[in-house]
Amino acid sequence: MTDAQSPLSPEGRSWPELAAALRELKRDDLDWRRGRHAAFVWHADDAVEEVAREAHALFMTENGLGLRVFPSLRRMEADVVAMVRHLLGGDAATAGHLTSGGTESIFLATHAAREWARRHRPDVTAPEIVAPWSAHPAVNKAAHYLGMTVRRVPVGAGFRADLPAMAAAITPRTVMVYGSAPTYSLGVVDPIAELADLARARGLWLHVDACVGGILGPFVRALGHPVPEFGLALPGVTSISADLHKSGYTAKGASVVLFRSAQHQAAGRYDFDDWPTGLYSVNTFTGTRPGGAVAAAWAVMHFLGEAGYRRIAATVMDAKARLVEGLARIDGGLHVWGAPELWAVGFGSEALDIFTLADRMTARGWSVGRIREPRGIHLMITPVHAPIIDEYLADLARAASEARGAAAPSPTQTVY
Ligand SMILES: *Cc1c(COP(=O)(O)O)cnc(C)c1O
Repeated sequence: MTDAQSPLSPEGRSWPELAAALRELKRDDLDWRRGRHAAFVWHADDAVEEVAREAHALFMTENGLGLRVFPSLRRMEADVVAMVRHLLGGDAATAGHLTSGGTESIFLATHAAREWARRHRPDVTAPEIVAPWSAHPAVNKAAHYLGMTVRRVPVGAGFRADLPAMAAAITPRTVMVYGSAPTYSLGVVDPIAELADLARARGLWLHVDACVGGILGPFVRALGHPVPEFGLALPGVTSISADLHKSGYTAKGASVVLFRSAQHQAAGRYDFDDWPTGLYSVNTFTGTRPGGAVAAAWAVMHFLGEAGYRRIAATVMDAKARLVEGLARIDGGLHVWGAPELWAVGFGSEALDIFTLADRMTARGWSVGRIREPRGIHLMITPVHAPIIDEYLADLARAASEARGAAAPSPTQTVY
């Protein structure tokens, strides 16, 4: 130890004091309970939050690395995977597991695709992935860690994956094709059925990034909204990721990755035996896995059930419709980019500088998501946004009138 005073308190501090300090620490955080956020937080309601918190606390100490000694976690994981498999068109052959989030699910699918290719196409030494430009950075992050290359292909009509361009980007080194359902930035669903046909025809692995839409998307479709099929019912889909901590409304640290078969899943499994303790064999990137995230996912999904998710789907789609109608009434040429099928939207304007409008909204206390190309404002609509759509639109109208008079475009940089 050094001479400097330790940042650890010498005798420890009391929990009441720390609890107060924690609440104080939250003071400048995003005001998500009142829907002031554009992304990052998915809150259904207080009852769901309570279920997640209690379930999480019950299993906070248990470790999903030790499924041998925690049959509870094994059963809950299998149960959650079965629920997601049902939602995403899987069958008895489908295999999958829980992960810590979308990034890990995508990493594991990409890793499995690379290992699958190593086995079946050993001639490919520099594997490539073909993805639309709209793909989430997680696929590049995975490729970066895995020594792979991503060819990002400009999007086509409606900001969706451009099939002919994607097909043209496939080389003898391509091992994986990628599509989103929906994309993060504009919320549009790529033509997954066509990508699946393409992948099948070329003998390639197709990963569907349904991190945003995977859980609630099927309920939006069941309500009668036109949501194209994007799951395992399409024979060319090899793997699909769906985040429970996004539209599953469970606690953070939970996502599912599904594979067409146990063989595809096994391709990504990591085994190691050359050390004192013996065989270490895991499906996940992480070693220790938080039992709380598994229990919270299990409890929230059973708590909501079909009816609960249908209710959330109806709420967010109604709020989206009111937002889209309201945008058209504002003097400023505001319009949604593309035709997003779900609750994530991006909107822009040719009549005013949209980032100046975003600055004015920020000044009014809204946390605003920005999109660089096409220039726009991004919003993931959740149930907490439903009651404040009118307030949001009223502030947008005021911000638009200020933005119309702006001399120069806002120089603000876009960040995730
Ligand atoms: C959020 C997201 C991811 C990454 O998921 P994390 O849970 O943030 O790791 C990947 N793809 C899409 C489309 C996403 O929205």
